[in-house]
Amino acid sequence: MKQLISFLLRRVPRKYLQLVSHYGLRVAALFYKGNNVQCPVCDSTFRKFLPYGRQSRENALCPSCLALERHRLIWLYLRDRTDFFTKERKMLHIAPELCFIDRFEKLDNLDYITGDIESPLAKVKMDIHEIPFEENTFDVIFCNHVLEHVDSDIKAMQEMRRVLKPGGWAILQVPFFYPLEDETFEDKSITSPTEREKVFGQDDHVRMYGKDYAKRLASAGFKVVEEKMVMELPKEEVKRYALPQDEIIYRVEK
Ligand SMILES: [Zn+2]
Repeated sequence: MKQLISFLLRRVPRKYLQLVSHYGLRVAALFYKGNNVQCPVCDSTFRKFLPYGRQSRENALCPSCLALERHRLIWLYLRDRTDFFTKERKMLHIAPELCFIDRFEKLDNLDYITGDIESPLAKVKMDIHEIPFEENTFDVIFCNHVLEHVDSDIKAMQEMRRVLKPGGWAILQVPFFYPLEDETFEDKSITSPTEREKVFGQDDHVRMYGKDYAKRLASAGFKVVEEKMVMELPKEEVKRYALPQDEIIYRVEK
């Protein structure tokens, strides 16, 4: 059972997995019944979370809503440190994560739009290099684990800044592979999936972010706030919610 789950989770692209996995995971949820860990996104409790990742991480995926460690952290951040759930806002969610979509759609205070170039979960088909909205349209943008895939991350950042209203903010997470290099590495001549996996950490990544990620965001005109919430939480909470140990939330503002 465990091997089957971890095989499927590793081999099936996440966007497709999200569409079909509901039923299989309902069954898995029965095997993981318990009260050791809690998912703040869907409020379910389990003995532990499911393993997930190419290099499988134990205790990662919520069987009920598919939230991963980083999604649980972002949820807690929104809930406890912002007025996201109450203030009227227009929001663009790029490459939307399934665990958030239904919940964001149900929020009365959000005018919520999802967009992506290929995800079947998104309503608007769009290229992040040329976002099909006028400038100063959105109060909030979410765009997580996208910038490592796109041709020009700087252009994508500039586009997001363009469509963001003055005073608006965005959460722009990217993966980091340790040990971190000082500078982000990209090389457009590397195109084969095998080479990309070796050099950039995944077969569809086109760059490997370094310690200069915040600087890159700033170069697109953003004010960058590095939220170190997980480092400030009590250890028991980090464990209870199975949060990523050292993930910084990159909140950028216009
Ligand atoms: Zn959940």
